[in-house]
Amino acid sequence: MLFALQAHAQGAPEHERCGLLAGRDGVITLVLHAHNIAGDPATQYEIAPAELFQLMREIRSTGLQLLGIYHSHPHGANQPSRTDIARAYYPGAAYFIISPQPDVENPVRAFSIRDGEVSELRISTV
Ligand SMILES: [Zn+2]
Repeated sequence: MLFALQAHAQGAPEHERCGLLAGRDGVITLVLHAHNIAGDPATQYEIAPAELFQLMREIRSTGLQLLGIYHSHPHGANQPSRTDIARAYYPGAAYFIISPQPDVENPVRAFSIRDGEVSELRISTV
């Protein structure tokens, strides 16, 4: 799963890439890539409402739950930006931020963002 996220981010290292993570009981088993339709994809990400709706339906049809939302930060640290915190519309989801840079210590980090409060989550692979 982590490798799939890194690979997606590295596929377009100059753009923020994004998608949804689904699974059950806190274990992510499905990575759904989305298109970034932001006006400036180098510094922002945005999933089109129609695509988001379709991905959510796909998750439900497989009996899974939305567990996370991921996007990459081509430059700078992979921690939530002010915009990421302001636009964290799914408080129940873990926000994964990926760095496409090969020399980063933790290329995949996850955060809980609730009411502007950010705390890092521990990721374990099963
Ligand atoms: Zn961001």
